[in-house]
Amino acid sequence: MNASALAPEAAKLLVVDDQAINIQALYELFKDDHEVFMATSGQQALDACEEALPDLILLDLMMPGMDGFEVCRQLKHNPRTADIPVIFVTAQNNPEHETIGLDVGAVDFISKPLNAPVVRARVRTHLALKRQGDILRSLAFIDGLTGIANRRRFDECLDVEWRDGKRNVHPLALILIDIDHFKSYNDLYGHLQGDTCLRAVGAVISACMGRARDLTARFGGEEFVCVLPNCDLDGARHLAEKVRMAVQELAIVHAGSSTAAVVTISVGLSCVVPQDGLACDALVDAADQLLYSAKQSGRNRVVARMMELAPRAAR
Ligand code: GH3
Ligand code: MG
Ligand code: MG
Repeated sequence: MNASALAPEAAKLLVVDDQAINIQALYELFKDDHEVFMATSGQQALDACEEALPDLILLDLMMPGMDGFEVCRQLKHNPRTADIPVIFVTAQNNPEHETIGLDVGAVDFISKPLNAPVVRARVRTHLALKRQGDILRSLAFIDGLTGIANRRRFDECLDVEWRDGKRNVHPLALILIDIDHFKSYNDLYGHLQGDTCLRAVGAVISACMGRARDLTARFGGEEFVCVLPNCDLDGARHLAEKVRMAVQELAIVHAGSSTAAVVTISVGLSCVVPQDGLACDALVDAADQLLYSAKQSGRNRVVARMMELAPRAAR
């Protein structure tokens, strides 16, 4: 089914069964409403999940090699796939199997031969629950005021990208941003207008990011942070300068600023190739110190440097 011809509420369903005829039956049931993927073995199912992240899995219990229980167990152990609802499809009406299935994390059982209205109704229910769960999960990572990522999301992202940089020997850049003279902006224009300013600054920083994996988050108060995976110092400096200019070009009047007529930001940028013996917090600390230098040297500027590594102890 061409995905673009489906309704907006269409979901991605993965059907797993070693028998083509069973896959065909479920495919026919859902092909007009959803994007249906197929796998004919447990391993294929795990690979397909990693790749396509389906919204729901219809999983055959009995398959040669890895059975459905084991597939489900592995899916629930992987944080990327743990939230995907799994419905077991089985020919055996066996309460023992049902108990094990529910214990390993399945949400439901459907018995063969399939009863089309029942299967459709169960899939509809579990897709609705999945959608609600997705919304709640995404809200937990969004800053309520600005609508961009929150501190929790930043912490998780930094941890993931730090490990990725270490594994692939790629540099990781971190930009820490603080609005200049924001206390006097609030004092002069009021807290509500201060909030509007925070939203505008957050949005413009976010819009400057060029790659899908770049993350902009609210770090706290009037501070923002950007995580730039696989980005060297020159590339990150270029981006930081672009962000600084973009905020200035918003031209938000700030009569209380002693260093400019409009709202500006100071930026600390640090970059390092993550490695053993170094914690990702050290990168945040380094950027924080450079941000302090940017404030001290007059504000509305970027101070960028490779992170200094302590010399290794002589053997
Ligand atoms: P500097 O140039 O040195 O950064 O000066 P500053 O005034 O920006 O720094 P300071 O840390 O003294 O003040 C930060 C201000 O940010 C104070 C606080 O009221 C304001 N602020 C923090 N969170 C919010 C928020 O959610 N909304 C609004 N409107 N203001 C906030
Ligand atoms: Mg501050
Ligand atoms: Mg400030």
